[in-house]
Amino acid sequence: MGYIELNVLNNETTTVAMGIDLGTTNSLAALWQDGRPVVIKPDGKNGKIPSVVQFPGPNAIPLVGGKALEQAVVDPRNTIFSIKRLMGRGLADVQDDLAAFPFPVTENVRGLLQIDVHGKPMTPQEISSLILMRVHDLACRAMSGNEVVKAVITVPAYFDEPQRQATRDAARLAGIEVLRIINEPTAASLAYGLDRRGEGTVVVYDLGGGTFDVSVLRIEDGVFRVLATSGDTHLGGDDLDRALIDMIRGELSEQLGPDELNDPAFLQAAKLAAEKCKVELSAHPRADLHLMVPDRRVSFRRTISREDFEAAIAPLVERTLDACRLALSDAGLTNSDIDEVVMVGGSTRVPAVLKRVEEFFGRKPHTELNPDEVVALGAAVQAHVLTGGNRDILLMDVIPLSLGLETMGGAVDKLITRNSTIPCQSTEGFTTHVDNQTGIDFNVVQGERELASDCRSLGRFKLTGIPPMPAGMPKIAVRFHVDADGLLTVSAKDESSGATASIEIQPMHGLTDAEVEGMLEASFANAQADFDARRVVDLKAELETMLRVTEKHLTTAREHLDPESLTDLEDAVRSGKHAMTLNDPREIQTVRDGFERATLPLAALLMDSVAKSALAGKKLDEV
Ligand code: AMP
Repeated sequence: MGYIELNVLNNETTTVAMGIDLGTTNSLAALWQDGRPVVIKPDGKNGKIPSVVQFPGPNAIPLVGGKALEQAVVDPRNTIFSIKRLMGRGLADVQDDLAAFPFPVTENVRGLLQIDVHGKPMTPQEISSLILMRVHDLACRAMSGNEVVKAVITVPAYFDEPQRQATRDAARLAGIEVLRIINEPTAASLAYGLDRRGEGTVVVYDLGGGTFDVSVLRIEDGVFRVLATSGDTHLGGDDLDRALIDMIRGELSEQLGPDELNDPAFLQAAKLAAEKCKVELSAHPRADLHLMVPDRRVSFRRTISREDFEAAIAPLVERTLDACRLALSDAGLTNSDIDEVVMVGGSTRVPAVLKRVEEFFGRKPHTELNPDEVVALGAAVQAHVLTGGNRDILLMDVIPLSLGLETMGGAVDKLITRNSTIPCQSTEGFTTHVDNQTGIDFNVVQGERELASDCRSLGRFKLTGIPPMPAGMPKIAVRFHVDADGLLTVSAKDESSGATASIEIQPMHGLTDAEVEGMLEASFANAQADFDARRVVDLKAELETMLRVTEKHLTTAREHLDPESLTDLEDAVRSGKHAMTLNDPREIQTVRDGFERATLPLAALLMDSVAKSALAGKKLDEV
């Protein structure tokens, strides 16, 4: 069984929502179609959109996905990757990542990270929204131009509230309505239909391009609880590629010299070559590592055996198993308590990884679904359920980290404990600490640690207007409420005066509403230009195909078309070629439409000859 087979009792579902796996290396989206989740694969490709954005110039339209990735070698300074690592974080949180980025990352006065792009600061949320816009675009095209504005987006189980909020903000900037943010391991389990087990314990082993996550989930009555997570945010397929490069480093440095070897552009080219070799080694016992960098006069080829590769990566694979041990012990479980193991992420295709995981857990992991797609598929299942696809399955997500208030002395009073299912709420009484205190400062924190300084502060607010009274007399009720979307609102009320104060949590390192609005306005201002540019690309692609096909059949046209239709067609070909040099979508559209009309007689002629040839027993491709 691959995914949940839902009994669609009626066809009321009018809203289509997408599931989006917004990954560190690649993103992809899935839609519910014909009773099952399907990954969107434009042009028959694999559906993965590299999570990369390249900014060609100060006012140029950014490239997103494969085209941006191609620029990583030539323009590393303006090609932004791994933006997920920066979402909802402060500069202190990402020190380990900074060295690997060829673009500068700074922090503004509000603690918001920003990347300098051609002199303009951009937040991770804005860059991430460009990736989401591309995903959104593909989903709309897959639905034949129908708007798909709602989505379920996945995040790692360990993402805290600011990271989740940053993801929501990115979606909002992209014009996407977030139905729910769900955990990636939950989504993967849903794709395999594991929520259908009455109860059980599942390990989700996720080895992607740059990160490794392992999660232990408990399923009870369709509710997923994250018992423990572990992993390494800097361990993944990229490290396997590096292990391969290290295998040839000695030979390479003889050709190049050690300085050249560390040049970022060269390393990027080496990484692509190593990755190609690694992927081949998953299917074959040996493969060539072929590295060509004409600029540097490098042409290098060496055959690598799977055995040698496995020996080189063994320590990395063992590190993932150490993390599995840790997660199990945090959950208070042993290997034998695990009912199912789910493999996620492209790197789980490496046979040595699969073998070691199977040995470690003593059971065959689920690999029936494509490990790149399984998270997006699960998100699409959830999106379908949330848009009314099937009301029988009630899926609930849980609070990943406890929420509480800082109390006197810097301790934390937890009002909502981790793994509470959302929506949820909790109210507690507080009082003043000194006589005649008329105001209280609340610091809302998230985390499992006992001291507020060890937790993450989500925001502060003040309650004023408390009548002067001896310490301990005022009764202040504080209510935490997390809605179905995971949005936290904290309110405080002084019972004697009725004074109230509340905040919707605006996390640190998050965007203010005003900032989001400002960015949205700016994106609306650029929307027409962005839209036009995309339209030009699409129209030219269409025109190019029309020109190619028409030119192929010009001889037939000259032999059989009436003179008027032939002149029209030849004029249309000329205008079409000229339109390929234009940049105004409206002008190109007019030419394209005229072209289409001019080709109708030729199309009729061809159809006719196809029919005749078929009748004469000729194959169609011989026509
Ligand atoms: P993800 O982030 O899940 O898309 O994983 C991408 C990672 O999977 C990259 O490091 C890829 O090189 C790796 N990958 C994809 N296909 C294979 C394969 N057949 N064998 C080994 N690694 C692969």
